[in-house]
Amino acid sequence: SAESVLITQQSHEELFKVLHNNKANEAEQKVVVVSVSPQSRASLAARYDLSSSEAGRRLTSFFKGLGVHYVFDTSFSRTFSLLESQREFVERFQRKEQDKNCLPMMTSACPGWICYAEKTHGEFILPYISTTRSPQQMMGSLVKGYFAEQKGIGPQQIYHVAVMPCFDKKLEASRSDFYLNSAETREVDCVITSGEVQKMLEEKNVSLSDVESAPLDVMFSSVSGGEFLSHAGSGSGGYLHHVFINAAKQLFGEEVKKLTYKTLRNKDFQEVTLEKDGKAVLCFASTYGFRNIQNLVQKLKRGKSPYDFVEVMACPSGCLNGGGQLKPLPGQNPKELLQKVDELYKSERSLSPEEDVRVAELYQSWLHSVGEERAKELLHTQYHTVEKMTNGLTMKW
Ligand code: SF4
Repeated sequence: SAESVLITQQSHEELFKVLHNNKANEAEQKVVVVSVSPQSRASLAARYDLSSSEAGRRLTSFFKGLGVHYVFDTSFSRTFSLLESQREFVERFQRKEQDKNCLPMMTSACPGWICYAEKTHGEFILPYISTTRSPQQMMGSLVKGYFAEQKGIGPQQIYHVAVMPCFDKKLEASRSDFYLNSAETREVDCVITSGEVQKMLEEKNVSLSDVESAPLDVMFSSVSGGEFLSHAGSGSGGYLHHVFINAAKQLFGEEVKKLTYKTLRNKDFQEVTLEKDGKAVLCFASTYGFRNIQNLVQKLKRGKSPYDFVEVMACPSGCLNGGGQLKPLPGQNPKELLQKVDELYKSERSLSPEEDVRVAELYQSWLHSVGEERAKELLHTQYHTVEKMTNGLTMKW
């Protein structure tokens, strides 16, 4: 099908081909940009016994040695996703009396969950899903919009690759919503998994242990003193954490320093509440894995969901455990490996989204200059029941 062509095209072989063509035909070179997710860095760091930041510096060096022009960090675009999610939640909460379908707001960064929701629950579930773009697709806006403009080149001259912990991110990149005006240009041209990066290293006979580290490209990277900065909260982006803290402050004037998670059915279904005068005023949950997601949807259908916000992720244990991460080596215990990846991921210093002055600057300059409507398109997206998808593709589940 057209869909499987789009997905198989997105592979590390395709990236090798683009880099090869660049060398063979300099006149028609594409500017190759690679955005690396923090979950992928942590997975590779665990394999090579490095810190996540060091893995990032060495990956930068490896990619540049292959002919990649720029390497960016998806935590940077995630700051936009978190800020927009915070705003979207406060806005929905304030109109909950008029619109009974605006809460719970369900996160949308996981394409595994989005495909399932669109295909299985369609019209019923779509109003609840956050319209904020995922970090991958925020980076798409930044690279093919702002970056292209800064470099004075067209978006079609850029080949943008995202390194992700996840195969379903390939599906997300090929959604019709993320094509630019021409049918051929996508915001993210190719998604490769952390495991595919490992394959690239093997095919080039390179071990990350022996690679020199390279300085980071700071244009779209959250770095300070050569170290990457991350976000607090879950390894799946920390949406619940940041939206909760912001909502407690904005809506109820409460400064929350630490969230107390209550485990419900299992460790992948947790709840956090804010109480004021003995009454729960905010009730958030994180729901990972399909069993828990189905349970949540049933609650919602029966009108029994107490939640204002839910961080929904299709993989048990979330993105650090994504299907595209490096597999355990023979004899390596999968649980121990996941714990190591989790520790590496969380050991980076975190930055609250509001503190990122460069992101604030881009809101002021770039997003302000394009006008309100265009800014909304660059930061948000939409969802469709399967029949309504416009590119003729059905998202396979
Ligand atoms: Fe991908 Fe799994 Fe993360 Fe969803 S939870 S975005 S499917 S890695």
